[in-house]
Amino acid sequence: MSNKVRVRFAPSPTGGLHLGGVRTVLYNYLFAKHHGGDFILRIEDTDQNRYVEGAEQYILDCLKWAGLEPDESPVHGGAFGPYRQSERKAMYRQYAEQLVNDGYAYYAFDTPEDLEKMRETHKSADNPSPQYDHHVRMKMRNSLNLTADETKALLDAGTRHVIRIKMPQGETIGFTDMIRGYIEFETSLVDDKVLLKADGMPTYHLAVVVDDYSMKITHAFRGEEWLPSAPVHLLLWKYLGWHDQMPQWAHLPLILGPNGKLSKRDGAKYGFPVFAMNWKDPKTGELTEGFREKGFLPEAFINLLALLGWNDGTEKEIFTKAELIEKFSLERVHAAGAKFDYEKAKWFNHEWVKQSVVGSLESVVRGILEEKGLSIPDEAFLRKVIGLVKERCTLLPDFAEQASFFFKSPVEYDLAAVKPKWSEAKDAFFKVLIAQYETVNWSAADLEASFKELATAKAIKPGELLLPLRIMLVGGKFGPGVFDIMEVIGKEESFKRVADALVAFGG
Ligand code: GLU
Repeated sequence: MSNKVRVRFAPSPTGGLHLGGVRTVLYNYLFAKHHGGDFILRIEDTDQNRYVEGAEQYILDCLKWAGLEPDESPVHGGAFGPYRQSERKAMYRQYAEQLVNDGYAYYAFDTPEDLEKMRETHKSADNPSPQYDHHVRMKMRNSLNLTADETKALLDAGTRHVIRIKMPQGETIGFTDMIRGYIEFETSLVDDKVLLKADGMPTYHLAVVVDDYSMKITHAFRGEEWLPSAPVHLLLWKYLGWHDQMPQWAHLPLILGPNGKLSKRDGAKYGFPVFAMNWKDPKTGELTEGFREKGFLPEAFINLLALLGWNDGTEKEIFTKAELIEKFSLERVHAAGAKFDYEKAKWFNHEWVKQSVVGSLESVVRGILEEKGLSIPDEAFLRKVIGLVKERCTLLPDFAEQASFFFKSPVEYDLAAVKPKWSEAKDAFFKVLIAQYETVNWSAADLEASFKELATAKAIKPGELLLPLRIMLVGGKFGPGVFDIMEVIGKEESFKRVADALVAFGG
């Protein structure tokens, strides 16, 4: 590629960031980094009715958490700013007016009542929801029908108006999508979309073209829901005279949930997150849970997202970010929707937790344990615990259950698992074991050897003794190997737990 690759993620700050949005970020990011290019974040905030306080900061925080930070953005700066469309407002009108002067667009003065009337009058069985298009445009109050003087008078008087594109009749236009191949559209089927709104703000249609042009975007990835608008954008690139600089487009497939397009409602219904991070709606106070708070590692999150619609052509599923950057190619992005499977998402996280080095988990696990009111004696101890239990943790909060007993002796025992088979002989065994352990080297291997030796001498199957020992140390039937646990918690604490439990088991 001759020009430097420049891609953009262009969210509207209207709420939480959905899985599909983060995957768009990710594919942008991977594509840019694969080609040594730049990844730009542009905030599309021209729809002031939909603007939501805090949503921009939330998006920035999500990108940071996921490790997908932009090279240019409203906060990172860059040579092509401003990066918020509301701050670029002044530059759009000239292009809209240029289109009017060149005959590709027109001023429309129709009031909401005029539009309502049009929809009523032209409604028919064949056309249940009439659009503002070539069928009706010559019957409406716009500069195509008014004389130049009438139009000028209305504009001079400050009459509320919009600028609409004049969609040509009977043309076929198309483009080659990087994922879907060549796609064609009949221009007559598309309505005369508003380009500039009455408040002077551009609509998405005008802004996306002007900004992709002026920010020198080379490749644009967006959701497939934008495909129907593509003919409008194609014409704008052409009418504005920029056709040879149009970015290559890729329309990304949907992420599918259990019932079609994955939605926030699916998340609520089935109990899985669909947002990157927790999002609290400032107006309603409604909280939507995120992958971060659910306990996903960012590395696992981007790994599972990358695989929702892409693979490297092999069976390989676990990829680091560096590997994704190296391997990513649009040729291997599927055009069909990708199905989100929460069990599979958890599998990815489990794999990542297992393979993470202890040090990288330390601070998050410390936070989880401290939140449970546990005090952590020292770093080395915490690291040993993490090393022992991480295999058993799928989501990060699992560390609370899997690790707590290392820091606090059990307050309750699973007596139902012990009592039916408890005996005098077993009680005696543990008393002797403790005495014998006084002189044993305190390592898991030596503790185990000494245990087995005594079991053989007492003619009790080790299997019959291991479960009670586990319950003494842990309280329940889970956790890593009992001798590993004893090695970590130490001699004094182990003896205390056995002694306390013998009282409870005997009572
Ligand atoms: N603001 C649009 C959206 O949030 C951006 C689409 C695009 O990337 O062009 O869907």
